[in-house]
Amino acid sequence: MIKITLPDGSIREFDEAVSGYEIAYDISPRLAKEVLSVTVNDEVWDLQRKITEDSKIKLHKWDDEEGKHAFWHSSAHLMAEALEVLYPGIKFGIGPSIENGFYYDIDLGEDRTLTDADFPKIEAKMKELAQQKNEYNRKDVTKSEAIEYFTSKGDEYKLELINDLDDGTITFYEHGNFTDLCKGPHLPSTGLIKAIKVLSLAGAYWRGDEKRKQLTRVYGITFPKQKMLEEYLVLLEEAKKRDHRKIGKELELFTFSQKVGQGLPLWLPRGAQLREGLENFLKKIQKRYGYQQVIAPHIGLKDLWVTSGHYEKYGKDSFQPITTPAEGEEFLLKPMNCPHHCEIYKHKQHSYKDLPIRYAEFGTVYRYEQSGELHGLTRVRGFTQDDAHIFCRPDQLKDEFKKVMDIISIIFDALNFKNFTAQVSLRHQTDHSKYIGSDENWEKSEAAILEAVREKDLNYVIEYDEAAFYGPKLDFMVKDALGRQWQLGTIQVDYNLPERFELEYVGSDNQKHRPVMIHRAPFGSMERFVAVLIEHTAGKFPLWLTPDQAVILPISEKYNDYAKKVLNYLNNYDIRTLIDDRNEKIGKKIRDNELKRIPYLLIVGEKEFENETVSVRIQGDGDKGAMKLDDFAELINKEVKAQTENY
Ligand SMILES: [Zn+2]
Ligand SMILES: [Zn+2]
Repeated sequence: MIKITLPDGSIREFDEAVSGYEIAYDISPRLAKEVLSVTVNDEVWDLQRKITEDSKIKLHKWDDEEGKHAFWHSSAHLMAEALEVLYPGIKFGIGPSIENGFYYDIDLGEDRTLTDADFPKIEAKMKELAQQKNEYNRKDVTKSEAIEYFTSKGDEYKLELINDLDDGTITFYEHGNFTDLCKGPHLPSTGLIKAIKVLSLAGAYWRGDEKRKQLTRVYGITFPKQKMLEEYLVLLEEAKKRDHRKIGKELELFTFSQKVGQGLPLWLPRGAQLREGLENFLKKIQKRYGYQQVIAPHIGLKDLWVTSGHYEKYGKDSFQPITTPAEGEEFLLKPMNCPHHCEIYKHKQHSYKDLPIRYAEFGTVYRYEQSGELHGLTRVRGFTQDDAHIFCRPDQLKDEFKKVMDIISIIFDALNFKNFTAQVSLRHQTDHSKYIGSDENWEKSEAAILEAVREKDLNYVIEYDEAAFYGPKLDFMVKDALGRQWQLGTIQVDYNLPERFELEYVGSDNQKHRPVMIHRAPFGSMERFVAVLIEHTAGKFPLWLTPDQAVILPISEKYNDYAKKVLNYLNNYDIRTLIDDRNEKIGKKIRDNELKRIPYLLIVGEKEFENETVSVRIQGDGDKGAMKLDDFAELINKEVKAQTENY
């Protein structure tokens, strides 16, 4: 008798070994049609794999990450099969599922390349093979069998992967005429894959190592229904239009220079204005919540990072030490702000009455990323965190968490991120060997986080085994206007650094105690947040934040002086305004400035000059007629006030 426990706690009993598919069918035949994979205890399995002992299971449909993962990962195998038919002798690297779809890294050998023009052919072959409804069959193999197979195939990449595996843990998956080294899980059959699109190509170094061969990475996506693919492609088009790298250029927000270095963003005046707007906004809220601004240098002695543990963990793979003419003196660029803040905390003795102490800094940090990993503002080598470190007593943890959550809610609200969830990352449920700090502290802090999210009535999910080794954390995921999920703010408990830096406070018992440290960054980093904000708003920032709120467009040179007068007037009202006095037709000026997403266009000519007015045009909404200058100023100030009065 095998007992299967479902997520709701109910138990189903089976006389003999049973597969996820059979359990689903037992619940309802309709469910069996929709399930794609099954979590058995802590592992995701193929639906057909027999469960031979009492287990806890969860069935996954398309809407679950695990369901999509099985679907897309199986599709990567299908694409590999198609590629092998079309390009005999092709060799394969890895082929995982990703957030949207999957890829496979391939080596076509000498004299063969892929271009976009080959995509329809690959898609057609994939469809043909999918329609054969081939089953994905799991097969345990010994290490020597695995080596033999891929030696005969001449695939040195798979052989290298096998080399790193332990005998007894190796599985093959076969479907149709294709065999792959893989640990699964996969779909029951290729027949479930109904809609197929090969999306793009990229270069990818084998094992991410720039010294090794560059393979071709083929990206694709598949769906169980044609309609889902069509919807996705529309979304993808819209996402391309909103790409922050494209809009960043159009709006003149930031740039990169090969001479300065890859992955080091240069903020242009309008981008700097936008960033300053965000910083001032957060500073104002933080002040209300009892934060104090601090400022620390961009480098620190190597010993600082040895103490913090960062050197041991990241030293080798990151920017190398900066040496000075003085003998033996070595500095490192800071990858984090925390060690500096720990030393700030230590500048004097603290009593329990002083806590919590909240140090905030827009701290710029540097982390080495491989050039292939760099991407616009979302993956960079230097970035500014909206960082703060809270030093508190253990009994203050929950309250501090709630306060940080308030700040994050205010930000999301002000920037129109309506849809966000929190992910609570806790320890592994049973194996606690890798975590530092006492069990008692962990239990307290995990409970504090959970109570805080419940009391704040947040949508949340719990992820076990996702905590850092030094403490549990809470991450905020937002959905943007296109429904894409981004991880933004984070709050993290830390028992490690207070220990390493020997931080103390004097308790009411006159004894010395360790404070708990909280790291938090509501935006995450300014770079990443601006990128997400651009893609979320398509560059149409809220009026209070947008770099230029209005632009004055004189109809001809004759009205440039009047335009300047209007500019001075509006500047006095703190309305961020500029003049477009280029010698261009008014129609072109309107188009250009609409493209720059400036919310208000103010056209001035003879009539406006005589009546001391401006003709107002709202971006994307057309002409609104003439307005007196003070009426216009009042309109703007009212709108800004309405947007910001809650903060
Ligand atoms: Zn696989
Ligand atoms: Zn930190």
